[in-house]
Amino acid sequence: MAKPISASKLVEILRAEGLTVHEVRNWRSHNRNTKGPWGPVNGVMIHHTVTSGTAASVNICYNGYSGLPGPLCHGVIDKKGHIHLVGNGRANHAGLGDSDVLRAVVNEAKLPHDNEADTDGNRHFYGFECVNLGDGKDPWPEVQKEAIEKVAAAICRHHGWSERSVIGHKEWQPGKTDPRGFTMDGMRKRIADRLGGKAQPPDPKPTPSKPSYEPFPGSGFFHVGQKSPVITAMGRRLVAEGCGRYEEGPGPEWTEADRLSYQAWQQKLRFKGKDADGIPGKVSWDKLMVPNS
Ligand SMILES: [Zn+2]
Repeated sequence: MAKPISASKLVEILRAEGLTVHEVRNWRSHNRNTKGPWGPVNGVMIHHTVTSGTAASVNICYNGYSGLPGPLCHGVIDKKGHIHLVGNGRANHAGLGDSDVLRAVVNEAKLPHDNEADTDGNRHFYGFECVNLGDGKDPWPEVQKEAIEKVAAAICRHHGWSERSVIGHKEWQPGKTDPRGFTMDGMRKRIADRLGGKAQPPDPKPTPSKPSYEPFPGSGFFHVGQKSPVITAMGRRLVAEGCGRYEEGPGPEWTEADRLSYQAWQQKLRFKGKDADGIPGKVSWDKLMVPNS
């Protein structure tokens, strides 16, 4: 049970979910609020349009038709997965449905079979019409199904609902068949995964642990007389790489044995000439990965 979302907030959360949102004409003030209550809202209902073509489908959902004035839903989900918002408030999409189903949605419990038409659904459900002929042959592109998943998840997240607050029209009103072409259980699973974070883009990469390698100290660091634990650590790595040219050590003081050992490392890296003079440069140093001393 919840207060209906505002038009601006709806646009915001859909875009935040990564959806392309089109605002159709005066959708923000287009509704059937003079004909009955809107809210508290309890769930999201998915439909198919039994139409083809985005423009025609969006028009009919905005305007309605003789005997059923628009808006016929809140948003149309086209075959490209774009969302066309056509109504904000009470919309003619759900009709009369089963009070037991509404109770299950409110409680986010297992859905009973819909066998009654005793409750005003237009008051309680957001409605999304998906462009599809509903003949069981018209395909449902993956981008369209993904958009259904995203729309439903965005609204559920906003209200603190689970995937169990999302139903198909056919689960609400006896005699309805929509949506046809995928199962609502499968769609709810996708929504649950998205809400659980599994289907979301991966979290920002975990901060890499502080590199535990010695940064290159600069070529000028390596000269006779220099003494540092970095040189010992470097020497140990050179030995490990099979490049040790030490009689004894390695030790902390830079010696000719260090230079010869480092030269062997540069040669191992296929450096030539001046690049293999035994004085560490940044490229070869970084490849050696000298542990922090
Ligand atoms: Zn329907």
